[in-house]
Amino acid sequence: MILVTNDDGIHALGLRALAEALTPLGEVYVVAPDREQSAVGHALTLHRPLRVDRLGERRFAVNGTPSDCVNLGVLGLLPEPPVLVVSGINHGSNLGDDVTYSGTVSAAMEGTLLGVPSMAVSQVEGEAGGFESAGRIAEMVAARVLVEGLPAKTLLNVNVPRGEIRGVRMTRLGHRVYRDKMVQEVDPRGRPYYWIGTGPPEWQEDEASDIAAVHAGWASVTPLHLDLTHFGALGRMSEWEGSLNALLRKRPR
Ligand code: MN
Repeated sequence: MILVTNDDGIHALGLRALAEALTPLGEVYVVAPDREQSAVGHALTLHRPLRVDRLGERRFAVNGTPSDCVNLGVLGLLPEPPVLVVSGINHGSNLGDDVTYSGTVSAAMEGTLLGVPSMAVSQVEGEAGGFESAGRIAEMVAARVLVEGLPAKTLLNVNVPRGEIRGVRMTRLGHRVYRDKMVQEVDPRGRPYYWIGTGPPEWQEDEASDIAAVHAGWASVTPLHLDLTHFGALGRMSEWEGSLNALLRKRPR
């Protein structure tokens, strides 16, 4: 049983393409948000009830986030727990530092945290359709994951260019150059309003990155690790513990 979800919503063409592409690998269940949830990141809905609309035998719409959908799917909506969670095919790439905002990638993170091998699939210029290459890559990578599994706390972030691709590259996350400006205007009632995230993203040059691979026409597969601990820094900063505690004892409140 394979759980498919996304952040573009239950009616997105990329979701349908992904479900079709994975059908040869097992029984595909679709549990997806009832509307677009792009850039909601890893949000969970905890302060209102979730409702599930059954749209087909193995197709469910949820009034929640991608991570909600994965929780419902893994924790009991499906007749048995899925052996794989695949999120996508996102309409647009999820590269480099942007993965931290991505609902698509967060759904795969959630699957990983729940102990199910998980991957996210995104397509450059996905709004324009044409998911043949991305679907084929998704199926190939998913088949390999089903055979080999993934390391603990590890998910795969897959990005595929639109149209013909040169092949597949294993990559690392690239890094954004933040030059964004905040746009401030005044609304018709005289109150200020703001826009963030305007303008095209800029990226650090790095041949081994997911960004460089996709820009050069390759499909990119990046293993991501969910233990965010920086073990080097933890070692280097170990003495902070003693000095912070000394300070605490000196100045009781
Ligand atoms: Mn999206």
